[in-house]
Amino acid sequence: MEQVASITKDDIKDLVRRIAAERIGPTAGERDKTGAFPYESIKALGESGVLGMIVSEQHGGANVSRSDFALAIQEIAKACASTALVVVSHCVVAKAIEIAGTEASKDKWLPRMMDGRALGAFAVHEADSGSNAAAIRTTVKKDGDHYIINGSKFFITSAGEADIYMVMAKTYPQKDLKGMSAFLVDKETPGLSFGCPEDKMGLRCSSSREMGFSDCAVPRENLLGIEDGGVSVFGKSLAGWGFFGAAGISVGIAQAAVDLAVRHAKDRKIAGQPIGIHQAVQSLIAKMIVETEASEATLATCAAKADAASEKAGINGFKAKLHASEIALGVANRAIQVMGGHGYCRDYTVERLFRDAKGLTLHFKTAELLCQDIAKAALGL
Ligand SMILES: Cc1cc2nc3c(=O)[nH]c(=O)nc-3n(C[C@H](O)[C@H](O)[C@H](O)COP(=O)(O)OP(=O)(O)OC[C@H]3O[C@@H](n4cnc5c(N)ncnc54)[C@H](O)[C@@H]3O)c2cc1C
Repeated sequence: MEQVASITKDDIKDLVRRIAAERIGPTAGERDKTGAFPYESIKALGESGVLGMIVSEQHGGANVSRSDFALAIQEIAKACASTALVVVSHCVVAKAIEIAGTEASKDKWLPRMMDGRALGAFAVHEADSGSNAAAIRTTVKKDGDHYIINGSKFFITSAGEADIYMVMAKTYPQKDLKGMSAFLVDKETPGLSFGCPEDKMGLRCSSSREMGFSDCAVPRENLLGIEDGGVSVFGKSLAGWGFFGAAGISVGIAQAAVDLAVRHAKDRKIAGQPIGIHQAVQSLIAKMIVETEASEATLATCAAKADAASEKAGINGFKAKLHASEIALGVANRAIQVMGGHGYCRDYTVERLFRDAKGLTLHFKTAELLCQDIAKAALGL
């Protein structure tokens, strides 16, 4: 494995903050305009070992907790939420390979994923499935030493850019979640195709595309976990870690919005007086600060509970993501209000934060479906 700087659990937040300030943030606005994928940001994070942060030391990672993962993602998101989204997707796939991959898959992919030579993405959602993974129609059939995948996926982050995809497919389309299996699909697999990037409102440089699978043959060792065991892989990687990362993105967006609004309220003068002297502006800022701190605290509490008992990760991740995503949208909205017409213009970052925050209320699982899952768990349904 190529030598990269090693990180420890203790210095991850400071390291990521420095990389974000020097190598991610300065170009985030330009990428938002052009939709260019954040290659340089990913390279910087790979060189420093950050892309392997949630994988164990045994496989070259830093083995950070969900709490520290969320903090690191917040720092990336403060600089560029799109890059943070790409990193969360990558980390989810690296985790899935570590916990459910064959030795051959671990040897092939993990070293390259740790230092950024290979990027990961996950593909669950389909045009007709919505957030309901049980409704996916992509099929898989065993054929000797291979599995043959047919179908399509929709709105996949990093699609076309990533090197390795965790793909959910069903043995029989009419089966429910119990018939779903998880596979690794190499970008170079014959029969795999990618659509054009979606022209999204926000999270614009995260490259969301459709993926097509036409008789894609993947070797048997690319199965993650056991046949029909996709739910377990999904639960331990995406639900177990991804939702904390997604919540971290939203918290980072809210923190960035607070910083920008406070700075603007000090700098912007009307009739010689900074607008921050007005009680109405102070009220907006106070609410933004309290809401952001509440979402930091909720995420920290939920992540700590999941770190203490990983079987509770799913529901705690749902709570953290629901809360953080709704708070971030409200805080970014208030930041625009504090900044008036300036905040409504493309040259001022808060309108990007608002557009990015909206995407986080939809991504992974919509806010409505998270509410349903949280309520059902409480009601024992
Ligand atoms: C920025 C972004 C990145 C993404 N990246 C990925 C990725 O990397 N991999 C991946 O697999 N997917 C990805 N997705 C897809 C994402 O998981 C889906 O967009 C999401 O699950 C919602 O599905 P949908 O867009 O089809 O909305 P729909 O399911 O059509 O939902 C539309 C509305 O109906 C509501 N609704 C739907 N079903 C119900 C129900 N049963 N009860 C109550 N309300 C309901 C929803 O809450 C929503 O308000 C991404 C999406 C976004 C926006």
